Amino acid sequence: MSQNNVVVVGAGVIGLTTALVLSKHKNLNITLVSKHMPGDYDIEYASPWAGANFMPVGKEGSKLRAFERATWPEIDRICRDIPEAGIHYQECKVYGRKKDEGTAVGIWFQELIKEDPWFKDLMPEFKILDKSELPPSCNTGTSFKSVCINTAIYLPWLLGQCLKNNVAIKRGIINHISEAPSHHTTGTASVVINCTGLMASKLGGVMDTTVYPGRGQIAIVRNEPGAMHTTSGTDDGPEEAMYIMQRAAGGGTIIGGCLQHGNWDSQVDPSLANRILQRAVDICPSLAPKTGKVTELSIIRHGVGLRPMREDGIRVEKELIGTRDQDLWVVHGYGHAGYGYQSSFGSAFAMEELVLGIVNKNAPKAKL
Ligand code: FAD
Repeated sequence: MSQNNVVVVGAGVIGLTTALVLSKHKNLNITLVSKHMPGDYDIEYASPWAGANFMPVGKEGSKLRAFERATWPEIDRICRDIPEAGIHYQECKVYGRKKDEGTAVGIWFQELIKEDPWFKDLMPEFKILDKSELPPSCNTGTSFKSVCINTAIYLPWLLGQCLKNNVAIKRGIINHISEAPSHHTTGTASVVINCTGLMASKLGGVMDTTVYPGRGQIAIVRNEPGAMHTTSGTDDGPEEAMYIMQRAAGGGTIIGGCLQHGNWDSQVDPSLANRILQRAVDICPSLAPKTGKVTELSIIRHGVGLRPMREDGIRVEKELIGTRDQDLWVVHGYGHAGYGYQSSFGSAFAMEELVLGIVNKNAPKAKL
């Protein structure tokens, strides 16, 4: 069997999941190269900042919906069978408010808050909540069984699985996509997988001007909410959000947030932090059972992450790029916005299909 060298650029949830899926093919010899790695916290690295939970939001006919559908069975399997991956099941309660229609957050959660959503047969235990179970400000509510991923455990776990499958991992900064093949540890790569997230907007040879940040600010607290809660918006502006999710295995509870389009600011906004905490206690009083007050929250840290947004949605496609030495196949996988975990395996499977199509076409014809 002829060997094909592949370089994956990026060690976020997309690069790592794609490398892991590809590593099951014995004819692929994979190196993953990245500026940031699991363990780092940086504004150019979205994955550690995610909650992360699974709340389907893909619109009809979108790649995202297909990827969410393909991802759930894998995440469900890992949650059920592999405790060391750092995922646990959580009930997810979603509340809709009529007044959020058309806001940044309302559009993001448009499919999620439907009472008859497309995913009602995908996510277990889907049900419509009784009006008596809704917070006073909300008009609709549903609940289903989902997961919360402790990203501080899950990302290193993915990396470990790649190592186990002989993926070489190395640090490196790629200035131009045509440099990537030479980062392969045992030769030059014929295929490069571009999983650079938001930085696809600045990577030479890619420079996708339709990619931009969707700023998210969060707090992590020690308090336990009992279930995950999300509303379709808040009264504090169209880009402010309310979500609460408890990470697996002592990872604390993530409280968010916001979706600020085009905002690159890496610093915590203290007044937004106060609003985030207040909204969470208002919607989920069990977070502060003694006093009902924000002061009862035990804060681990505040943080900011930038979601890799893209105007036309996720980009998973192949592109032939001419370099000085030879033509290079690049398979792009970026633009996963606020849903990279819940679409991770679906996009990795789609990239796998593209890579196999390329290497099988390139394979020398068998002699008759
Ligand atoms: P990244 O994680 O940003 O990784 C990009 C990688 O590429 C990095 O390793 C970087 O170092 C590397 N790189 C970039 N440029 C170069 C270069 N030139 N050379 C070398 N390496 C390079 N998603 C969910 O599914 N569920 C959630 O609950 C959820 N919550 C979120 C909450 C917040 C606050 C935020 C910010 C995001 C959330 N997301 C959630 C979205 C999710 O985090 C992202 O979609 C996902 O992390 C994107 O992964 P990625 O691998 O594409 O990008």
